[in-house]
Amino acid sequence: MASYFRPASLEEALVIRADADVMPIAGGTDVYPAKVSRAGWGDMSHKDVLDISAITSLRGLSQSDTHWRLGALVTWSEVARASLPASLRGLQQAAREVGGVQIQNRGTVAGNICTASPAGDGAPNLLALDAEIELASRTGTRRVAMRDFITGYRQTACRPDELVTAILIPKLPEQAEAIFLKLGARRYLVISIAMVSALAVCDGAGRILDVRLAVGACSATPQRLASLEQALIGEPIAGAGAKVGKQHLAHLSPIDDVRGSAAYRLDAALTLVRDALDGLAGSARRAA
Ligand SMILES: Cc1cc2nc3c(=O)[nH]c(=O)nc-3n(C[C@H](O)[C@H](O)[C@H](O)COP(=O)(O)OP(=O)(O)OC[C@H]3O[C@@H](n4cnc5c(N)ncnc54)[C@H](O)[C@@H]3O)c2cc1C
Repeated sequence: MASYFRPASLEEALVIRADADVMPIAGGTDVYPAKVSRAGWGDMSHKDVLDISAITSLRGLSQSDTHWRLGALVTWSEVARASLPASLRGLQQAAREVGGVQIQNRGTVAGNICTASPAGDGAPNLLALDAEIELASRTGTRRVAMRDFITGYRQTACRPDELVTAILIPKLPEQAEAIFLKLGARRYLVISIAMVSALAVCDGAGRILDVRLAVGACSATPQRLASLEQALIGEPIAGAGAKVGKQHLAHLSPIDDVRGSAAYRLDAALTLVRDALDGLAGSARRAA
């Protein structure tokens, strides 16, 4: 018989986490379908559950002078509805496309990255935003850069005695613009075939000062396009999409599956990157 813990404080939760082999649950929208799926294949085993949803200190979206802070219980709906700067628009676009409204109301951004699915919509956005993940254990708190948090297919840097307590997103200059594009077999309730999160900061003349491009669902973990980012610095954002070539995506390693072949995924990612840069150029034009 499995135990179900639902502590009201982080301190209590961390004691449980340190002392027992428990499965943390926030919204449960990944955990429960996975459990049902395993049971369907005859695996009836289940771990004790550590439900963190009553820990009020993990709720809420706030800001300091330097960062936006998403508590570990911040849901996709909260992100979608929040008043946020244009640099977080990609994350908000993802929030409106994750599952359907019921999933958005329960599912958390932190739960999404802890699942570390290659098709998770949160990760490319947080990678482009240079987010940091705050982790707590009984021995203290540490921060891990998003680029180091997802360590492999469904693997993260979160230790068995730790919980994610928050996602920290550095603030960017106010002219920063972001966009998220996702290709699936249909418009809603769909697992991505490829997705791109793009962010750019341009000067008054429309030249790129900073650009970040992250591709998801095309490798075991989301990937930044570092060589393309470097090549675009100083270039005009208008027409930047036309400068993207296959060589910039050469380090991606997509798989063949029922949703699409590896070649199709790469082709889709190339088109999405170009479209994302064109979209950012449009935003920069409108803002000028
Ligand atoms: C019908 C449906 C549609 C979906 N559509 C999408 C989609 O379009 N895009 C997408 O990306 N995802 C989708 N998902 C997946 C899921 O809804 C999201 O990944 C969601 O954000 C998960 O958050 P959660 O709070 O429900 O996570 P949970 O299910 O509670 O947990 C997920 C994982 O994270 C761990 N975890 C959770 N919180 C913490 C914490 N604070 N510290 C340490 N570990 C933690 C859990 O142990 C578990 O391993 C869909 C799911 C369903 C059922």
